[in-house]
Amino acid sequence: MSIQEQIIGWRHHLHKHPETGLKEHQTAGFVAAKLEEFGIEVHQNIGGTGVVGILKCGNSDRSIGLRADMDALMINETNDFDYKSVNEGVMHACGHDGHTSMLLGAASELSRTRNFDGTVYFIFQPDEEHGMGAKAMIADGLFTRWSIDAVYAIHNMPGIRAGQVLTRSGSIMASESSFEIDIIATGGHAALPHMGTDPIVVGAQIVCALQTIVSRNLSAISETAVISVTEFATNGTVNVIPSHVRITGDTRSFTDEALAKIEAAIERVVAGQCASAGVEYKYKFTNTFLSTINSPRETEYAIQAAQEALGAENVDGDCQPLTISEDFSFMQREVNSCYILMGNGVDTEGGNALHKPNYDFNDNILMKGVAYWQTLVENRLPAKK
Ligand SMILES: [Zn+2]
Ligand SMILES: [Zn+2]
Repeated sequence: MSIQEQIIGWRHHLHKHPETGLKEHQTAGFVAAKLEEFGIEVHQNIGGTGVVGILKCGNSDRSIGLRADMDALMINETNDFDYKSVNEGVMHACGHDGHTSMLLGAASELSRTRNFDGTVYFIFQPDEEHGMGAKAMIADGLFTRWSIDAVYAIHNMPGIRAGQVLTRSGSIMASESSFEIDIIATGGHAALPHMGTDPIVVGAQIVCALQTIVSRNLSAISETAVISVTEFATNGTVNVIPSHVRITGDTRSFTDEALAKIEAAIERVVAGQCASAGVEYKYKFTNTFLSTINSPRETEYAIQAAQEALGAENVDGDCQPLTISEDFSFMQREVNSCYILMGNGVDTEGGNALHKPNYDFNDNILMKGVAYWQTLVENRLPAKK
Protein backbone atom coordinates (compact mmCIF):
# COMPACT_ATOMS: atom_id res chain seq x y z
CA MET A 1 0.00 0.00 0.00
CA SER A 2 1.35 3.46 -0.86
CA ILE A 3 1.95 6.01 1.91
CA GLN A 4 -0.90 8.07 0.43
CA GLU A 5 -3.34 5.14 0.66
CA GLN A 6 -2.23 4.49 4.25
CA ILE A 7 -2.76 8.13 5.28
CA ILE A 8 -6.21 8.20 3.64
CA GLY A 9 -7.00 5.02 5.59
CA TRP A 10 -5.94 6.68 8.89
CA ARG A 11 -8.00 9.77 8.04
CA HIS A 12 -11.13 7.72 7.37
CA HIS A 13 -10.61 5.72 10.57
CA LEU A 14 -10.33 8.94 12.61
CA HIS A 15 -13.31 10.49 10.82
CA LYS A 16 -15.43 7.44 11.62
CA HIS A 17 -14.49 7.54 15.34
CA PRO A 18 -14.58 11.22 16.35
CA GLU A 19 -14.14 12.31 19.98
CA THR A 20 -14.75 15.74 21.51
CA GLY A 21 -12.28 17.93 23.42
CA LEU A 22 -10.22 16.27 26.18
CA LYS A 23 -12.01 12.97 25.53
CA GLU A 24 -9.78 11.98 22.59
CA HIS A 25 -8.73 8.70 24.29
CA GLN A 26 -9.05 6.36 21.30
CA THR A 27 -7.64 9.02 18.96
CA ALA A 28 -4.62 9.58 21.21
CA GLY A 29 -4.14 5.81 21.49
CA PHE A 30 -4.26 5.50 17.70
CA VAL A 31 -1.73 8.34 17.26
CA ALA A 32 0.62 6.90 19.91
CA ALA A 33 0.49 3.41 18.35
CA LYS A 34 1.34 4.79 14.89
CA LEU A 35 4.23 6.89 16.22
CA GLU A 36 5.61 3.81 18.02
CA GLU A 37 5.28 1.82 14.80
CA PHE A 38 7.49 4.45 13.10
CA GLY A 39 10.11 4.07 15.86
CA ILE A 40 9.35 7.48 17.38
CA GLU A 41 9.65 8.15 21.15
CA VAL A 42 6.11 8.74 22.49
CA HIS A 43 4.84 10.67 25.52
CA GLN A 44 1.13 10.37 26.28
CA ASN A 45 -1.33 12.19 28.58
CA ILE A 46 0.33 15.57 28.12
CA GLY A 47 -2.35 18.07 29.18
CA GLY A 48 -5.02 15.35 29.40
CA THR A 49 -5.14 13.46 26.12
CA GLY A 50 -2.25 15.20 24.32
CA VAL A 51 0.51 13.17 22.67
CA VAL A 52 4.09 14.26 21.91
CA GLY A 53 6.30 12.25 19.54
CA ILE A 54 10.06 12.97 19.50
CA LEU A 55 12.30 12.16 16.55
CA LYS A 56 15.98 13.07 16.85
CA CYS A 57 18.49 12.85 14.05
CA GLY A 58 22.16 13.85 14.13
CA ASN A 59 23.57 15.87 17.04
CA SER A 60 22.35 19.44 16.53
CA ASP A 61 20.58 21.19 19.44
CA ARG A 62 18.09 22.78 17.05
CA SER A 63 14.46 21.71 17.25
CA ILE A 64 11.05 22.30 15.73
CA GLY A 65 7.49 21.58 16.92
CA LEU A 66 4.75 20.58 14.47
CA ARG A 67 1.25 20.77 15.90
CA ALA A 68 -2.01 19.07 14.90
CA ASP A 69 -5.35 19.19 16.72
CA MET A 70 -7.32 15.96 17.36
CA ASP A 71 -10.77 16.96 18.64
CA ALA A 72 -14.18 16.77 16.94
CA LEU A 73 -17.43 18.73 17.39
CA MET A 74 -20.91 18.02 18.81
CA ILE A 75 -22.59 17.93 15.39
CA ASN A 76 -24.79 15.26 13.80
CA GLU A 77 -23.09 14.30 10.54
CA THR A 78 -25.30 14.34 7.42
CA ASN A 79 -22.69 12.83 5.06
CA ASP A 80 -23.46 9.37 3.81
CA PHE A 81 -20.12 7.76 2.94
CA ASP A 82 -18.79 4.55 4.44
CA TYR A 83 -16.48 6.35 6.92
CA LYS A 84 -19.30 8.53 8.31
CA SER A 85 -19.16 9.04 12.10
CA VAL A 86 -20.37 6.08 14.16
CA ASN A 87 -20.44 8.22 17.32
CA GLU A 88 -23.95 9.70 17.46
CA GLY A 89 -23.91 13.52 17.63
CA VAL A 90 -20.12 13.80 17.27
CA MET A 91 -18.38 14.68 14.02
CA HIS A 92 -15.05 15.77 12.58
CA ALA A 93 -16.56 18.91 11.04
CA CYS A 94 -13.40 21.03 11.28
CA GLY A 95 -10.95 18.65 9.58
CA HIS A 96 -8.86 17.85 12.66
CA ASP A 97 -8.97 14.21 11.43
CA GLY A 98 -7.08 15.47 8.35
CA HIS A 99 -4.60 17.57 10.37
CA THR A 100 -3.80 14.59 12.60
CA SER A 101 -3.39 12.26 9.58
CA MET A 102 -1.15 14.76 7.76
CA LEU A 103 1.13 15.03 10.78
CA LEU A 104 1.21 11.24 11.22
CA GLY A 105 2.11 11.02 7.51
CA ALA A 106 4.95 13.49 8.04
CA ALA A 107 6.14 11.51 11.09
CA SER A 108 6.14 8.33 9.01
CA GLU A 109 8.09 9.94 6.14
CA LEU A 110 10.60 11.78 8.34
CA SER A 111 11.31 8.67 10.42
CA ARG A 112 12.08 6.84 7.17
CA THR A 113 14.09 9.49 5.28
CA ARG A 114 15.79 11.10 8.34
CA ASN A 115 17.26 13.83 6.17
CA PHE A 116 17.62 16.46 8.92
CA ASP A 117 19.85 17.34 11.86
CA GLY A 118 18.04 18.18 15.10
CA THR A 119 14.87 17.18 16.95
CA VAL A 120 11.31 17.18 15.66
CA TYR A 121 8.49 17.32 18.20
CA PHE A 122 5.18 16.03 16.81
CA ILE A 123 2.54 17.72 18.99
CA PHE A 124 -0.97 16.22 18.89
CA GLN A 125 -3.16 18.46 21.02
CA PRO A 126 -6.62 17.93 22.48
CA ASP A 127 -9.55 20.33 22.58
CA GLU A 128 -8.80 23.11 20.12
CA GLU A 129 -12.49 23.94 19.65
CA HIS A 130 -13.07 25.15 23.23
CA GLY A 131 -9.62 26.68 23.50
CA MET A 132 -8.49 24.44 26.38
CA GLY A 133 -6.09 21.98 24.74
CA ALA A 134 -3.07 24.13 23.94
CA LYS A 135 -3.25 25.75 27.39
CA ALA A 136 -3.48 22.31 29.04
CA MET A 137 -0.39 21.03 27.21
CA ILE A 138 1.55 24.21 28.06
CA ALA A 139 0.53 23.92 31.73
CA ASP A 140 1.72 20.31 31.65
CA GLY A 141 5.19 21.41 30.57
CA LEU A 142 5.15 21.27 26.76
CA PHE A 143 7.75 24.04 26.57
CA THR A 144 9.54 23.43 29.88
CA ARG A 145 10.04 19.65 29.71
CA TRP A 146 11.29 20.00 26.16
CA SER A 147 13.26 22.72 24.42
CA ILE A 148 11.25 23.52 21.29
CA ASP A 149 12.72 26.41 19.25
CA ALA A 150 9.60 27.20 17.21
CA VAL A 151 6.13 25.74 16.53
CA TYR A 152 4.15 25.51 13.32
CA ALA A 153 0.55 24.51 12.54
CA ILE A 154 -1.73 23.91 9.53
CA HIS A 155 -5.52 24.36 9.30
CA ASN A 156 -7.56 23.51 6.23
CA MET A 157 -9.83 26.14 4.69
CA PRO A 158 -12.86 25.34 2.53
CA GLY A 159 -13.61 27.84 -0.23
CA ILE A 160 -9.89 28.10 -1.10
CA ARG A 161 -8.46 26.02 -3.96
CA ALA A 162 -7.20 22.60 -2.78
CA GLY A 163 -3.63 22.82 -1.56
CA GLN A 164 -3.30 26.59 -1.88
CA VAL A 165 -1.43 28.00 1.12
CA LEU A 166 -2.33 31.27 2.81
CA THR A 167 -0.31 32.88 5.55
CA ARG A 168 1.11 36.22 6.64
CA SER A 169 3.61 37.64 9.08
CA GLY A 170 1.90 39.25 12.10
CA SER A 171 -1.78 38.81 13.01
CA ILE A 172 -3.50 36.22 10.83
CA MET A 173 -6.53 35.47 13.01
CA ALA A 174 -8.47 37.27 15.73
CA SER A 175 -8.74 36.87 19.47
CA GLU A 176 -12.12 35.83 20.83
CA SER A 177 -13.58 37.02 24.13
CA SER A 178 -17.03 37.24 25.65
CA PHE A 179 -18.49 39.69 28.13
CA GLU A 180 -21.42 39.60 30.55
CA ILE A 181 -22.92 42.75 32.04
CA ASP A 182 -25.58 42.61 34.76
CA ILE A 183 -27.37 45.86 35.61
CA ILE A 184 -29.08 45.83 38.97
CA ALA A 185 -31.77 48.49 39.57
CA THR A 186 -34.94 48.79 41.64
CA GLY A 187 -37.45 48.52 38.78
CA GLY A 188 -41.04 49.41 39.52
CA HIS A 189 -44.39 50.41 38.01
CA ALA A 190 -44.25 51.36 34.32
CA ALA A 191 -46.40 54.41 35.10
CA LEU A 192 -44.13 55.62 37.92
CA PRO A 193 -40.50 55.46 36.67
CA HIS A 194 -39.49 58.34 38.95
CA MET A 195 -40.15 56.13 41.98
CA GLY A 196 -37.16 53.85 41.21
CA THR A 197 -34.30 53.16 38.82
CA ASP A 198 -34.71 51.74 35.32
CA PRO A 199 -32.01 49.35 33.99
CA ILE A 200 -33.49 49.30 30.46
CA VAL A 201 -32.63 52.90 29.62
CA VAL A 202 -29.12 52.44 31.06
CA GLY A 203 -28.72 49.13 29.20
CA ALA A 204 -29.76 50.72 25.90
CA GLN A 205 -27.22 53.52 26.44
CA ILE A 206 -24.52 50.94 27.21
CA VAL A 207 -25.26 49.05 23.96
CA CYS A 208 -24.81 52.26 21.95
CA ALA A 209 -21.79 53.48 23.94
CA LEU A 210 -19.98 50.14 23.48
CA GLN A 211 -19.89 50.86 19.74
CA THR A 212 -17.79 53.96 20.41
CA ILE A 213 -14.91 51.82 21.71
CA VAL A 214 -13.92 50.63 18.23
CA SER A 215 -14.59 53.98 16.59
CA ARG A 216 -13.14 56.30 19.31
CA ASN A 217 -10.58 54.30 21.32
CA LEU A 218 -8.83 52.08 18.76
CA SER A 219 -6.66 53.04 15.82
CA ALA A 220 -8.52 52.71 12.51
CA ILE A 221 -5.24 51.61 10.90
CA SER A 222 -3.63 49.17 13.31
CA GLU A 223 -6.30 48.09 15.79
CA THR A 224 -9.16 46.57 13.81
CA ALA A 225 -11.74 45.01 16.15
CA VAL A 226 -15.38 43.97 16.45
CA ILE A 227 -17.62 44.37 19.50
CA SER A 228 -21.03 42.71 19.14
CA VAL A 229 -23.82 42.77 21.72
CA THR A 230 -25.66 39.50 21.17
CA GLU A 231 -28.16 39.28 24.03
CA PHE A 232 -30.30 41.79 25.97
CA ALA A 233 -32.56 40.10 28.55
CA THR A 234 -34.74 41.64 31.28
CA ASN A 235 -37.08 40.45 34.00
CA GLY A 236 -39.70 43.10 33.14
CA THR A 237 -43.15 42.63 31.65
CA VAL A 238 -45.48 44.97 29.75
CA ASN A 239 -46.32 47.25 32.69
CA VAL A 240 -43.36 46.47 34.97
CA ILE A 241 -39.98 48.18 34.73
CA PRO A 242 -37.44 45.37 35.32
CA SER A 243 -35.00 45.29 38.19
CA HIS A 244 -32.40 43.42 36.16
CA VAL A 245 -30.94 43.65 32.66
CA ARG A 246 -28.38 41.20 31.35
CA ILE A 247 -26.29 42.13 28.33
CA THR A 248 -23.87 39.63 26.78
CA GLY A 249 -21.66 39.87 23.75
CA ASP A 250 -18.55 38.88 21.89
CA THR A 251 -15.44 40.75 20.83
CA ARG A 252 -12.64 40.05 18.33
CA SER A 253 -9.36 41.88 17.88
CA PHE A 254 -5.95 41.28 16.32
CA THR A 255 -3.39 42.36 18.91
CA ASP A 256 -2.94 41.78 22.64
CA GLU A 257 -2.83 45.58 23.13
CA ALA A 258 -6.23 46.08 21.45
CA LEU A 259 -7.67 43.22 23.49
CA ALA A 260 -6.48 44.80 26.76
CA LYS A 261 -7.89 48.19 25.72
CA ILE A 262 -11.29 46.65 24.88
CA GLU A 263 -11.51 44.75 28.16
CA ALA A 264 -10.80 47.92 30.15
CA ALA A 265 -12.97 50.19 27.97
CA ILE A 266 -16.08 48.02 28.28
CA GLU A 267 -15.92 48.22 32.05
CA ARG A 268 -15.25 51.98 31.93
CA VAL A 269 -18.36 52.48 29.74
CA VAL A 270 -20.51 50.24 31.94
CA ALA A 271 -19.31 51.85 35.18
CA GLY A 272 -19.84 55.38 33.81
CA GLN A 273 -23.31 54.74 32.43
CA CYS A 274 -24.44 52.91 35.57
CA ALA A 275 -23.05 55.64 37.88
CA SER A 276 -24.90 58.30 35.89
CA ALA A 277 -28.18 56.45 36.43
CA GLY A 278 -27.51 55.42 40.02
CA VAL A 279 -27.67 51.66 39.42
CA GLU A 280 -25.32 48.82 40.31
CA TYR A 281 -23.57 46.49 37.89
CA LYS A 282 -21.53 43.29 37.63
CA TYR A 283 -19.06 42.77 34.80
CA LYS A 284 -17.29 39.63 33.60
CA PHE A 285 -14.87 39.44 30.67
CA THR A 286 -13.63 36.01 29.49
CA ASN A 287 -10.89 35.56 26.92
CA THR A 288 -11.09 32.19 25.09
CA PHE A 289 -8.54 32.67 22.30
CA LEU A 290 -5.74 35.18 21.85
CA SER A 291 -5.03 36.53 18.36
CA THR A 292 -2.96 34.24 16.15
CA ILE A 293 0.26 36.19 15.51
CA ASN A 294 2.95 34.75 13.24
CA SER A 295 6.63 35.52 13.86
CA PRO A 296 8.41 37.11 10.86
CA ARG A 297 11.30 34.65 10.57
CA GLU A 298 9.16 31.54 11.04
CA THR A 299 6.71 32.88 8.46
CA GLU A 300 9.58 33.20 5.98
CA TYR A 301 10.49 29.54 6.60
CA ALA A 302 6.84 28.54 6.16
CA ILE A 303 6.45 30.46 2.89
CA GLN A 304 9.69 29.05 1.51
CA ALA A 305 8.76 25.46 2.45
CA ALA A 306 5.26 25.83 0.96
CA GLN A 307 6.70 27.29 -2.26
CA GLU A 308 9.23 24.47 -2.58
CA ALA A 309 6.77 21.71 -1.71
CA LEU A 310 3.67 22.98 -3.53
CA GLY A 311 4.84 25.52 -6.12
CA ALA A 312 5.24 29.29 -5.71
CA GLU A 313 2.00 29.90 -7.64
CA ASN A 314 0.09 28.13 -4.84
CA VAL A 315 1.35 30.31 -1.98
CA ASP A 316 -0.06 33.65 -0.84
CA GLY A 317 2.40 34.86 1.79
CA ASP A 318 0.49 38.06 2.56
CA CYS A 319 -3.15 36.98 2.88
CA GLN A 320 -5.97 38.95 4.51
CA PRO A 321 -6.42 38.27 8.25
CA LEU A 322 -9.54 36.34 9.31
CA THR A 323 -11.88 37.02 12.25
CA ILE A 324 -12.00 33.35 13.27
CA SER A 325 -9.80 32.14 16.15
CA GLU A 326 -7.32 29.41 17.15
CA ASP A 327 -5.90 28.22 20.44
CA PHE A 328 -2.51 27.73 18.73
CA SER A 329 -2.30 31.41 19.76
CA PHE A 330 -1.44 30.31 23.32
CA MET A 331 1.56 28.31 22.04
CA GLN A 332 2.57 31.40 20.06
CA ARG A 333 3.01 33.34 23.32
CA GLU A 334 5.59 30.75 24.44
CA VAL A 335 7.85 30.37 21.36
CA ASN A 336 8.20 31.78 17.83
CA SER A 337 5.73 30.29 15.40
CA CYS A 338 3.87 30.28 12.12
CA TYR A 339 0.31 29.17 11.33
CA ILE A 340 -0.75 28.49 7.75
CA LEU A 341 -4.11 27.85 6.14
CA MET A 342 -4.33 25.25 3.39
CA GLY A 343 -7.18 25.34 0.87
CA ASN A 344 -9.56 22.37 1.28
CA GLY A 345 -11.08 22.97 -2.17
CA VAL A 346 -14.05 24.78 -3.68
CA ASP A 347 -17.64 23.72 -4.49
CA THR A 348 -18.02 19.94 -4.59
CA GLU A 349 -14.32 19.32 -3.95
CA GLY A 350 -14.04 20.16 -0.24
CA GLY A 351 -15.96 23.43 -0.46
CA ASN A 352 -18.47 22.76 2.35
CA ALA A 353 -17.85 25.18 5.22
CA LEU A 354 -16.15 24.26 8.51
CA HIS A 355 -18.54 23.25 11.34
CA LYS A 356 -21.33 22.32 8.87
CA PRO A 357 -22.89 18.81 9.12
CA ASN A 358 -21.95 18.07 5.47
CA TYR A 359 -18.30 19.17 5.75
CA ASP A 360 -15.52 16.70 4.93
CA PHE A 361 -11.75 17.05 4.87
CA ASN A 362 -10.37 16.71 1.32
CA ASP A 363 -8.15 13.61 1.04
CA ASN A 364 -6.41 15.18 -1.98
CA ILE A 365 -4.57 17.65 0.25
CA LEU A 366 -3.19 15.07 2.72
CA MET A 367 0.03 14.52 0.76
CA LYS A 368 0.39 18.27 0.18
CA GLY A 369 0.40 18.75 3.96
CA VAL A 370 2.94 15.94 4.37
CA ALA A 371 5.19 17.49 1.69
CA TYR A 372 4.99 20.89 3.40
CA TRP A 373 5.84 19.43 6.83
CA GLN A 374 8.74 17.41 5.45
CA THR A 375 10.22 20.33 3.49
CA LEU A 376 9.81 22.65 6.48
CA VAL A 377 11.73 20.27 8.77
CA GLU A 378 14.47 19.68 6.21
CA ASN A 379 14.89 23.45 5.65
CA ARG A 380 14.65 24.43 9.31
CA LEU A 381 16.96 21.65 10.56
CA PRO A 382 19.27 21.14 7.57
CA ALA A 383 21.30 17.92 7.52
CA LYS A 384 25.08 18.23 7.53
CA LYS A 385 26.49 17.96 3.99
ZN1 LIG B 1 -13.37 24.31 14.38
ZN1 LIG C 1 -10.41 23.57 13.46
